Amino acid sequence: MKEQIYLDHASTTPMRREVLEAMLPFMAEQYGNPSSIYRMGREARAALDRSRDQVAALLGAEAREIVFTAGGSEADNLAIKGAAFARRRRGNHIIVSSIEHPAVLDTSRQLEKHGFEITYIPVDAEGLVHPDALAAAITPETILVSIMHANNEIGTIQPIAEISRLLREKSILFHTDAVQTVGHVPVNVQDLGVDLLSLSAHKFYGPKGVGALYVKQGVRLEPLVNGGGQERQRRAGTENVAGIVGLATALGMALSEIDSVGSRLRNLQNRLIDGVMETIPHTRLNGHRTRRLPGNVSFCFEFIEGESLLLNLDMLGIAASSGSACTSGSLEPSHVLLALGLPHEIAHGSLRLTLGRDTQEAEIDRVIDVLPGIVDKLRQMSPLYDAKAVSYRS
Ligand SMILES: *Cc1c(COP(=O)(O)O)cnc(C)c1O
Repeated sequence: MKEQIYLDHASTTPMRREVLEAMLPFMAEQYGNPSSIYRMGREARAALDRSRDQVAALLGAEAREIVFTAGGSEADNLAIKGAAFARRRRGNHIIVSSIEHPAVLDTSRQLEKHGFEITYIPVDAEGLVHPDALAAAITPETILVSIMHANNEIGTIQPIAEISRLLREKSILFHTDAVQTVGHVPVNVQDLGVDLLSLSAHKFYGPKGVGALYVKQGVRLEPLVNGGGQERQRRAGTENVAGIVGLATALGMALSEIDSVGSRLRNLQNRLIDGVMETIPHTRLNGHRTRRLPGNVSFCFEFIEGESLLLNLDMLGIAASSGSACTSGSLEPSHVLLALGLPHEIAHGSLRLTLGRDTQEAEIDRVIDVLPGIVDKLRQMSPLYDAKAVSYRS
């Protein structure tokens, strides 16, 4: 068994060796600027064009519909602010789900300061957005809806195609943050019927700091970064050629093994869920049981603090998360778990284990082995647990 058991693939994944090798020439001898007209520039341009063609084909899009960005957060920002500012004469209302990633939620809050009205629609206890809840929130002012394809904390996969049919009739733009799904479950922009879709390379074994936004032909965006005319005037700045080549390589490789890795991860996921639920009482599985990302497991253990659980696991060489990396370190429980209707004290006891292509069965068994002891030890220290134990006995 590896010394470190890495079960935090939803926060980032290790870059593949082949991806690094595809990138290296563009960080060394092939350093030309794609906008330059001499040969080195043209070679960089050719690599960029090839990558854009690959990414577009893999998503069911056209090359001109792909805008490369510096990651998933920037793609989300460009989609939401870009569409909001381009459409503000048509209306000022935007709808997002209440369990979006902070890259969408904080962007929406920022837009509130600029006069936009945001509706945060609820989800059910398993994290699903209901199309009728969305329909009820639409007003004549609604210009944009943003609902993530799958949630990073609980793994629930939304009915995006169904939602897009609803919005299409009303010609409201539809953005989906697909950072957790691209490379892991099939994502085709035609099938999903979305206008805007965000992805990020480091979530599918590519480099950090590079992502893309799919922008359907005809959708206008106000750029966030002004300057040179790169990315068809939608994102200025000399392109991150090496990163973009890495993104395209990583996406191709992820999709070539998507079915085999997916089914292996589903088996390991079920093994982990069953193993933990059977041995640790007062435990809940967060998210939807079947409509969820392969490899995403999220629990709440009553009467414990998620942070102490993480530290205890870390001492045994197991890297896990309490939910989103962006909120860890804060005392507030996750907004996603609260949106499911969990009370604060239960939401505090969360543990997210996200498996990856290298995860071994022995690693899952190790977690199933050590977790009951850690949870029990922490519960023994909790005054709440004593009180509850007494009330159970009486
Ligand atoms: C990781 C993540 C992001 C942010 O992507 P970065 O490339 O890290 O900026 C956005 N949305 C979701 C759902 C994510 O999981």
